[in-house]
Amino acid sequence: MTPKVDKEKCIGCGACVAIAPNTFKMGDDGKSDILNPAGDSEESIKQAADGCPVQAISIE
Ligand code: SF4
Repeated sequence: MTPKVDKEKCIGCGACVAIAPNTFKMGDDGKSDILNPAGDSEESIKQAADGCPVQAISIE
């Protein structure tokens, strides 16, 4: 399970970082980056993807 962030869609709200802080981090561009694709439980990563307001996180 590998999460990816679509930077074109990301609005930098920080929700994914709040839900899965060991997987996502805010980049210097103010948008979410992958810190460690397996940093949190699969459940937490799925919650982060579901919680993204602009569906910028895909899971492959
Ligand atoms: S939840 Fe979505 S919009 Fe918000 S920072 Fe994460 S990827 Fe970007």
